[in-house]
Amino acid sequence: MPAKAALPPTIEDIPQLLNPQACRDWLFRQLHPSGPACPSCNRPIEDTRAVRRFFAGRMIQCDACDTRFTPITGSVFSGSQMFPEDIAAMLVLFGMGRRDADIATALDLNRSTVSRWRRVLNDHGAGI
Ligand SMILES: [Zn+2]
Repeated sequence: MPAKAALPPTIEDIPQLLNPQACRDWLFRQLHPSGPACPSCNRPIEDTRAVRRFFAGRMIQCDACDTRFTPITGSVFSGSQMFPEDIAAMLVLFGMGRRDADIATALDLNRSTVSRWRRVLNDHGAGI
């Protein structure tokens, strides 16, 4: 009896093949390549514990102006209601050149939502 072959992943498989923590970490570091800074007063956040909490996706507070923020605050994804790991998976699928309908199926989103994200990201220079 032949061994069961492993087939290439279908688009529906891709989100579950991605490590959620790695997705969040990648997304937050893409959004903040030089580390966290207050979105209100631009003060860089240097406290090691606060930086660690920030890159874990937690809310932190600016010592100077008391603004509370997460890695998503003030980014293009602010207010999106999507989990960071789903945002990262969507970006992976955009980067793979997949169609909006396929991405919508993979992530259980409306196609119009995916199309809107493609427009927004292209308006920000994504080129997808
Ligand atoms: Zn501040």
